[in-house]
Amino acid sequence: MQVPAPFDYDRASSVEEAVALLERHGAEARPIAGGHSLLPMMKLRLARPERLVDLNDLTELSYVRTEGEWIAVGAMTRHAQLAASDLLARHYPIFQDAERVIADPVVRNRGTVGGSLCQGDPAEDLCAVVAALGGQVVLRSSGGERVVAARDFYLGPYETVVAPAELVTEVRIPIRPGSGSAYEKVERRPGDWAIAAVGCFVTLAQGSVADCGIGLAAVGANGYCAPQAEAQLRGQPATEESFRAAAEAAAAGCRPQSDQRGPEDYKRDLVRELTRRALRRAAARAMAGGA
Ligand SMILES: Cc1cc2nc3c(=O)[nH]c(=O)nc-3n(C[C@H](O)[C@H](O)[C@H](O)COP(=O)(O)OP(=O)(O)OC[C@H]3O[C@@H](n4cnc5c(N)ncnc54)[C@H](O)[C@@H]3O)c2cc1C
Repeated sequence: MQVPAPFDYDRASSVEEAVALLERHGAEARPIAGGHSLLPMMKLRLARPERLVDLNDLTELSYVRTEGEWIAVGAMTRHAQLAASDLLARHYPIFQDAERVIADPVVRNRGTVGGSLCQGDPAEDLCAVVAALGGQVVLRSSGGERVVAARDFYLGPYETVVAPAELVTEVRIPIRPGSGSAYEKVERRPGDWAIAAVGCFVTLAQGSVADCGIGLAAVGANGYCAPQAEAQLRGQPATEESFRAAAEAAAAGCRPQSDQRGPEDYKRDLVRELTRRALRRAAARAMAGGA
């Protein structure tokens, strides 16, 4: 049986206390949310924090609500809550699409949006969703709050801009009336990590794509997004031909790696096909009434 190296443990009762604990104990302390990524890494000794600061009492960070022109999601909101949110379903069905194919109910009942973003696994589905939607990440430290665009949040695989004594407290998504969104993923078996996945939103105006966002998971896309494909699609008619051209750009712009989940050219083919499917479904949802 794999067991983690010894560690000390604190259970924070407020965001301020969590930040203070992280600051007091320095780089060797790590926050723990759902624990579904951090604990397996500790058991494999890939992570050896000397102290865990448990965030599970921070119910103040568990919400999905509108704030002005944004949907605000607290960092401790669980996958299952995202899946059950009527607000998200109404504005961004991409969340329900993605949550249906993330892991299993055990993981979804504990894993959090904050933990998913901070883990920064290249195949993390919510990273691609939030990148596609042009979300923002709110970070808190003893020095105050800062807001980072989700696309600038990652420095590389498993690496983010979060400083040692900083907590992610919220994810914000701009509300886009009339938009449609969708997520498409191919995995080896239900609940597995993606071989490749694509999420997108489109906003239509008089039959053309007024705005769009395309996010990619598991295929080596910088910041989980496909800016060339988005630029290709904006302003074009919402037709199969335009979706195909954007899908070509998404496939050309990513950098999948051959591994046990499949060869690089297969993953690129998946990106091409999944981008088309996601755009088609997002456009259909926008036409059907959208957000
Ligand atoms: C069997 C299994 C299958 C899975 N399949 C999928 C899948 O198909 N798709 C997918 O996307 N994910 C999958 N996951 C991962 C799952 O989504 C995790 O819940 C998620 O990666 C991490 O969320 P967590 O709350 O458990 O984070 P934790 O494991 O608690 O933390 C992860 C990292 O984030 C840091 N952290 C957590 N919260 C904060 C915060 N608020 N501020 C700063 N740092 C923070 C921690 O210190 C740690 O470094 C799977 C996990 C398992 C165990």
